[in-house]
Amino acid sequence: MASEFPTSARVVIVGGGVMGVGLAYHLGHEGWGSDTVLLEKAELTSGSTWHAAGQVTHSTSSFGLGKCVDYNIGLYSGGLEAETGQPVTWHGCGSFRLAYTTDEMDWLRHTLSVARALGFNIALVGPEQGAKLHPFYNLDGVLGALHTPDDGHVDPTNVTMAMAAARVRTVSASSANAGPPTSCKPPMTNGWSRPRKARSPASMWSTPLAPMRARSANGLACNCR
Ligand SMILES: Cc1cc2nc3c(=O)[nH]c(=O)nc-3n(C[C@H](O)[C@H](O)[C@H](O)COP(=O)(O)OP(=O)(O)OC[C@H]3O[C@@H](n4cnc5c(N)ncnc54)[C@H](O)[C@@H]3O)c2cc1C
Repeated sequence: MASEFPTSARVVIVGGGVMGVGLAYHLGHEGWGSDTVLLEKAELTSGSTWHAAGQVTHSTSSFGLGKCVDYNIGLYSGGLEAETGQPVTWHGCGSFRLAYTTDEMDWLRHTLSVARALGFNIALVGPEQGAKLHPFYNLDGVLGALHTPDDGHVDPTNVTMAMAAARVRTVSASSANAGPPTSCKPPMTNGWSRPRKARSPASMWSTPLAPMRARSANGLACNCR
């Protein structure tokens, strides 16, 4: 993390979880790296990112989310590690999504149609085929399952740290700023020049943060403590 607090930035991102760091990383790829600052009140990944199991699955019934997931699997399964040299512990073990009711089977069929339209490797299998693919599964009561062999899981902390190492200018909050956000100062009072854009992927802290952004000058970035 940077030791000196920067005084200007075109983009300020509040929150150093996988969302904030991912946004900064991709802005870096778009040529905005030196214009972007990420503010984190504690440590990178110290929010919900640290707790995540890290499963990434093609089994999604949304076209937009499906494209994001497919991109992420490509990034985590090779691209990020090749770029940064930092292991992200991708395990491409595949996954199942089980259905126990006819309504759930309908939802699996819908998900299957979306995934096929997007060209994903996916199949709707019955319990017998499921047992062959995964002999240790307890399939009592299972009507069917979506099998997505290209899925996997990753260590979310490693992914975030790899993206941060690649392209992110991060500023850790000083000890005076640590703790839940309770008040907010407009950036200019702290010597900030006005950023053009502010983003707050602060996860469960977003609710207290939102009114602070609104109260800050022009609703732009703020220094919260
Ligand atoms: C038990 C569990 C299991 C999960 N499993 C999965 C899974 O298998 N697959 C999956 O896709 N998702 C999973 N998730 C969901 C996933 O963890 C979250 O969607 C993701 O981590 C959200 O990332 P984020 O960057 O938005 O938030 P966070 O990781 O919470 O990051 C927010 C950051 O903002 C910082 N912050 C807050 N307020 C301020 C402020 N005022 N100033 C500066 N910094 C601030 C915090 O310190 C924190 O670091 C799981 C979640 C949990 C809890």
